Amino acid sequence: MTEINPRELQQQFASDNYAGICPEAWKAMEDANHGHVTSYGDDPWTARASDAFRELFETECEVYFVFNGTAANSLALASLCQSYHGVICCDQSHVETDECGAPEFFSNGSKLLVAPSADGKLSPESIRELATKRLDIHYPKPRAVTITQSTETGRVYSLEELRAISNECKVHGLSLHMDGARFANACASLDCSPAEMAWKSGVDVLCFGGTKNGMAVGEAVLFFDRSMAMDFDYRCKQAGQLASKMRFLSAPWVGMLESGAWLRNAAHANNCARHFASQVAGIPGLRLAGPVEANAAFLEASEDLLRRVRERGWKFYTFIGGAARFMFSWDTDLARLDAFCRDLKECAAETLKV
Ligand SMILES: *Cc1c(COP(=O)(O)O)cnc(C)c1O
Repeated sequence: MTEINPRELQQQFASDNYAGICPEAWKAMEDANHGHVTSYGDDPWTARASDAFRELFETECEVYFVFNGTAANSLALASLCQSYHGVICCDQSHVETDECGAPEFFSNGSKLLVAPSADGKLSPESIRELATKRLDIHYPKPRAVTITQSTETGRVYSLEELRAISNECKVHGLSLHMDGARFANACASLDCSPAEMAWKSGVDVLCFGGTKNGMAVGEAVLFFDRSMAMDFDYRCKQAGQLASKMRFLSAPWVGMLESGAWLRNAAHANNCARHFASQVAGIPGLRLAGPVEANAAFLEASEDLLRRVRERGWKFYTFIGGAARFMFSWDTDLARLDAFCRDLKECAAETLKV
């Protein structure tokens, strides 16, 4: 039998998907666990979750529920493209760096056209450059743009930036997809409505992340241009993303959206990231690699310092964005966070003494 070591169950700040399930999502699962209902999404929970999304986004969008973000992004992009099309993305985007080629796989070959970026954001200029670089038959035809809100680098596109991007998309006849694995964090950060950040800013398809927001599993794919959703249910089924007991994928959304937990959870995570930034500011030997705008903070520090922090039992990743990444979630405990900050300070001081 595998022993479960309680020390290993302590909070870590390596990723926002280390956290468990928030009470609102958990309760909705429990509430859904009564009686028999029709399978494959033809049930009252799925209808209610879809309606909750339409109400939240103030529009009659098409709503689908899938298991994870890789599938949500890949299938959404595949529905925007033919196999000979290209999808413009940023070099630090999850679709490019963390989906094992799934966008290309599910689209039967639509190529990601990657724009270099210093901060993980895609700019209208780089969209224009990639959309106009080659117009001959030998190059994939640019057809869609994907952006991540909030970004993999913990940044948030302003509404002005989003509109500039969607305007550029319109000029070149490109559809706009948003990877919203942390959409809620961006909403909390900008204090704007989901509608403003999505369809009112020109987004055609949004993948709204539930997992990092406090659910066990699940992302919602929202089509604001309903014509783009054609046969999306078949895509989901073929890709193994159609849950037969769909109510357990959709009910947690009812809990999250109807209670407002989606936004509270994100705001808490963002506040923790800001608190962390204020705690580490000014510690000699440490530097924030960029502004903290959502629920992520990136630290630049020497290898020696990072090794000492790890030796004290703290986990974190350095392969994302080139610096040490710290992520905060719906359940981040401020006392645990302060303990981490104290360890960081002590490790920094030790490093300077050597
Ligand atoms: C976590 C994440 C996803 C989803 O990843 P899965 O592991 O496939 O659920 C998608 N995009 C971004 C930016 C993410 O951080």
